[in-house]
Amino acid sequence: MGMKRVRADGPTGRPADEERVLTAVVADPTGRIFDLPGYAAVGMAGAALTPLTSGQSIGLPFGSELLYLPDRKPVLFNVESGRLEVLEENPHEPGESVYPVAAFNSPGHVITRVSAYRERRRPQPLPLFCFGAVGWHRGRFRSAAVRVDFEPRQDLRRMPLPAVRAGVKALRRRMPDNRLRLHLESCALHYGCPAGKNFFLGRYEAPLPTAVACNARCRGCLSLQQNSGVSCTQERIAFTPSPEEIAAVALFHIGRVKRAVVSFGQGCEGEPLTAARVIEPAIRLIRSRTGRGTINLNTNAGMPDVLGRLCAAGLDSVRVSMNSVRRECYEAYFRPRGYGFPDVLRSIDTALSRGKFVSINYLNSPGFTDTEEEAAALLAFLRRHPIHMIQWRNLNYDPIRYWRAMGAAAPLSAPMGMEVLIDLIRREFPGLKFGYFNPPKEKWHKKRFTVHG
Ligand code: SF4
Repeated sequence: MGMKRVRADGPTGRPADEERVLTAVVADPTGRIFDLPGYAAVGMAGAALTPLTSGQSIGLPFGSELLYLPDRKPVLFNVESGRLEVLEENPHEPGESVYPVAAFNSPGHVITRVSAYRERRRPQPLPLFCFGAVGWHRGRFRSAAVRVDFEPRQDLRRMPLPAVRAGVKALRRRMPDNRLRLHLESCALHYGCPAGKNFFLGRYEAPLPTAVACNARCRGCLSLQQNSGVSCTQERIAFTPSPEEIAAVALFHIGRVKRAVVSFGQGCEGEPLTAARVIEPAIRLIRSRTGRGTINLNTNAGMPDVLGRLCAAGLDSVRVSMNSVRRECYEAYFRPRGYGFPDVLRSIDTALSRGKFVSINYLNSPGFTDTEEEAAALLAFLRRHPIHMIQWRNLNYDPIRYWRAMGAAAPLSAPMGMEVLIDLIRREFPGLKFGYFNPPKEKWHKKRFTVHG
């Protein structure tokens, strides 16, 4: 039979009696997903492999997708033997290859374990998603994730397509020549981007993409990949909107939405600080017309002086993307050109000293983010740089390739578990907000959000 036993390198063994293991789910070569009685799902965090239990998982959130991983074999827990096995084929249908299945959870959830797998020979790199562990229990899928934001900002149930189309039509009449409005149409209708849809629905946060260029080369960049064998999930904006076009979109959104947020720095663009020549006058234009709304910038923060100018122009909040606060690991993932991690820290301090609301967009990968070294570095960073919020996000990148790259950049020990890390940070920094979305300024001083498993 096509299976091989593997050594469990982490905190594994039989789960405690009171914890029910989740039945494994796998896919056949056609992509059909099914459960595999007699086997339990296994979560992977670096080298650590753990059978997944009901206590370590939540019901698969609405809007999540199940993905199957080609060129890979699932690692599962044989309930009878109590051993971990790598399955080549379906033990109940000899000769039929099986593939691992993972969950791409809906926004607001951060994964705690990756679906466990081993690579077959010469595998293609995985596409730009995250691959959370998933199993089957009492008639439903369960996912190894925690919910970090309870706002239904990107809940697809609240984005009916006819309403989005009606919004698109109305905006066409209102700003017929605005190229940014036209670009957002394609984001909402072609790519199904929830932020784009929210703009046309008149809710929450409107995206303001502007930048065609970037000063980094992130391994998992969604909008530009060169010679990586990975395809982009979004098409980068191909023009720079004018300050007037940007201000028209932002002012319209702020004018009709209560607690509106408008955000530079989206998945469909480069780095907005490289487009400061249009963003700075756009912010001034918006602020010359209204003090309402939160003007936010999502950025890699590699240009502190430019960021200082945007702060002076009237920017309200800044969200800085990072996968790690250790310079070696940050630079091994972002591969910055013309800046370094010390510039990112200088940007954070600049925004804080100007009284701006500062978040980090913390790109998590269980097995890396929750190692002792990363946790210690994060604690030290938070003590030195009193930011207001952590947006716990999933890193959308091939996990094994990522762990390999990070392991080559800096030492990594065994992971403590994402839940343990999140609890640790919460205990050490009780005033720090946790979440997933950029909050409007009206919510900055609300009590911190709670994380539920
Ligand atoms: S900073 Fe953003 S746009 Fe630039 S390479 Fe990284 S992900 Fe891509």
